[in-house]
Amino acid sequence: MTVANLEKGMLLIKPAAEPVGAWAAQFARLMPGLQIVVWDEVRDRASVDYALVANPPFGWLANFPALKLIVSLPAGLDHLLNDPEFPRHIPLARCLPPAGDPMMTEYALLHVLRHHRQLQAYAEFQARHEWHKLPQPPASERRVGIMGAGIVGRAAARAIQTFGFEVATWSRRPKELQRIASFAGEAELSIFLARTDILLCLLPMTVQTKGILNVATMSHLPAGASIINLSRGALLVESDLLKLLNTGHLSGATLDVTEVEPLPESSPLWKHPRITITPHIGSVVRAANAAPVVAENIRRLERGEDLINLVDVASGY
Ligand code: NDP
Repeated sequence: MTVANLEKGMLLIKPAAEPVGAWAAQFARLMPGLQIVVWDEVRDRASVDYALVANPPFGWLANFPALKLIVSLPAGLDHLLNDPEFPRHIPLARCLPPAGDPMMTEYALLHVLRHHRQLQAYAEFQARHEWHKLPQPPASERRVGIMGAGIVGRAAARAIQTFGFEVATWSRRPKELQRIASFAGEAELSIFLARTDILLCLLPMTVQTKGILNVATMSHLPAGASIINLSRGALLVESDLLKLLNTGHLSGATLDVTEVEPLPESSPLWKHPRITITPHIGSVVRAANAAPVVAENIRRLERGEDLINLVDVASGY
């Protein structure tokens, strides 16, 4: 097959934040021979070679007989893999830049710094018109623990480490990261939590991680610790978080994701003075960053080479 042939084919797009036009403009530059079809305008399903999708309806991807590659726009795969008819035999990849997601890194850093400098406590003082100063340890005396050492977790760990925090990660398999301690597997979870003052959750949502932040695990954190969940809401048992905040064991939490999204108006999480809620805006997938990764994977697939960000469907991430 010539290189020119590698540039052909039909890519189906079901976009998220940016309109299809933004993606089409990127692919026109990167792979001029590639045809783009919008998900709700596809006429001949048998002509679609590749699909780049955000949250398609269940069952929908099962009906493209010539599909060779599925690329998920969201970094989290829970929606796709919860689809009982998801075609698990087709390679599934993600489109994050392999060096990390800069928006997630900045969001992780922002909230680590907020918890480190106790801004939630100062917001409460301000609401009561109180001028209090709290003891403030330096970053070198604050231990940050990151659950998940994948593309997002590793980049966040490196950025946070440059501010002088003592950083550790927890993952399934041990990691070797410069000046960052690595803990792995269930056996080391409680040790990792016991050395963590600010816990940042960047795990994927899988059968194993669902509800992993519960009263038993969070009780291993030292008194006064805080929690930042930027991964998926179902990893955290929200009623257990409230219990531990109300007993004072935890000092605060940031939740960019919640069990039910949008968070119901009646949820007690909204009103809790020690909880900061944001509506799942940690990162926005941009065509300019993601299209080159997708184009590279299409080329690799057609050349029979290993794909970037290939998902292990059996593990769920
Ligand atoms: P990756 O798939 O690259 O990494 C996942 C990490 O989690 C790996 O280090 C893996 O361990 C670890 N892990 C998985 N299962 C377990 C387990 N059972 N026990 C211990 N560790 C485990 O994911 P990303 O870093 O790209 O993203 C992480 C998550 O962040 C996404 O799944 C998504 O839900 C969320 N996210 C949220 C966004 C937002 O806007 N709020 C935006 C982007 C991502 P190992 O390395 O050993 O395999």
